[in-house]
Amino acid sequence: MSSLPLTTLAEDERLIRDSVYRFADREIRPLVREMDEHAKIPRTLIDKLFDLGVMGVEIPDTLGGGGASFFHAVLAVEALSRIDPSIGVLVDVQNTLVANALLRWGSDDLKGRYLPRLASKSVGAYALSEAGSGSDAFAMASRASRRDRDWVLTGRKLWITNANEADLFIVFVNADPAAAYRGITAFLVERESSGFTVGKKEDKLGIRASSTCELILEDCIVPGANVVGEVGKGYKVAIETLNEGRIGIGAQMIGLAQGALDHTIKYVKERKQFGKAIAEFQAVQHQIARAATELEAARLMVYNAARLRDAGQPFLTEAAMCKIFSSEVAERVASLAVNLYGGYGFVKDYPVEKLYRDAKVGQIYEGTSNLQLQTIAKQILG
Ligand SMILES: Cc1cc2nc3c(=O)[nH]c(=O)nc-3n(C[C@H](O)[C@H](O)[C@H](O)COP(=O)(O)OP(=O)(O)OC[C@H]3O[C@@H](n4cnc5c(N)ncnc54)[C@H](O)[C@@H]3O)c2cc1C
Repeated sequence: MSSLPLTTLAEDERLIRDSVYRFADREIRPLVREMDEHAKIPRTLIDKLFDLGVMGVEIPDTLGGGGASFFHAVLAVEALSRIDPSIGVLVDVQNTLVANALLRWGSDDLKGRYLPRLASKSVGAYALSEAGSGSDAFAMASRASRRDRDWVLTGRKLWITNANEADLFIVFVNADPAAAYRGITAFLVERESSGFTVGKKEDKLGIRASSTCELILEDCIVPGANVVGEVGKGYKVAIETLNEGRIGIGAQMIGLAQGALDHTIKYVKERKQFGKAIAEFQAVQHQIARAATELEAARLMVYNAARLRDAGQPFLTEAAMCKIFSSEVAERVASLAVNLYGGYGFVKDYPVEKLYRDAKVGQIYEGTSNLQLQTIAKQILG
């Protein structure tokens, strides 16, 4: 184990963070407002993300991926989210949920067929939630039944990130309702499968460029070989991938907070009132100092959770803590950014109102803050 300070990055870690940030600054920043307004990510940008190597960070290099660690993926999500949290979540879901589930649970056949695609051209999505089952995700109503060597899936999924762009979907469905959560099974479903449709796209408050859609399964045929893990073990696939995925949401949130702080530091030095830059007022300095302090604490928590995960040590409590804390910090820092921009913070000509809108979702997806608190309390209180 390295004895480096948590935020001191090894050469390869610094390389991925800096190169992804430079890419985001050059290629994403000019598109942020348009993507938010049109609620769409151009395919050309997604292709560039594949070329950059951030769509398959942990996928082994023998299968076309980066062969790097979970922490590298976290650094990439943070760097992208500093410019646009919508791109951050696209990359986050691809790596920490979809590729992760296949890497950990997929058969060699599934890995061989799908990981090269995820690393090179196919966006992935992860479909657990339904209209009636969010926090209580395992109460899902979607069903799977056997037909010869195939499975037939029926039901609807809601809130599915990346659904508009994705070719590959990890879909959780109950194959044995009598067994309750022990019937839940994960399937790798291709977009072109018969009986599979991407439905309505949500019109959202924030991360508007990231697509969030309904999925409709109408006698959707999935080959038996596309079960991810074992039949009836989908609840394990979901729990374990989401435990890790929420560290990625922590990374998205600290990236967002850093982005809001970057804009604010620049602005307060330029904006003059009472004959001087507003950065010269001690009240403003203290507000920024407090925001930077909170962000430092959140970053330490996210990096620690990610490094624990890579070290194979328990990280469940730390992951829940880093998500709840960093999403609250992101909301507070983005709110301060709006305040310090004054009226200019309230209009779309300036970048911070978007970050304020984007921050909210960190307290909702991949387990709401109440559910994170429940996880933490359970670990502490036993
Ligand atoms: C933009 C966006 C993208 C998403 N992407 C995906 C995705 O890619 N894949 C996917 O599967 N899902 C996705 N989701 C769904 C998301 O994970 C759920 O919205 C979330 O889990 C909450 O579920 P819910 O919306 O049904 O709220 P509910 O579960 O109905 O919760 C409503 C409120 O009740 C509280 N609550 C519920 N149960 C308890 C309890 N036991 N104790 C205390 N409080 C409780 C919650 O904290 C919350 O405040 C996404 C959601 C959004 C908004």
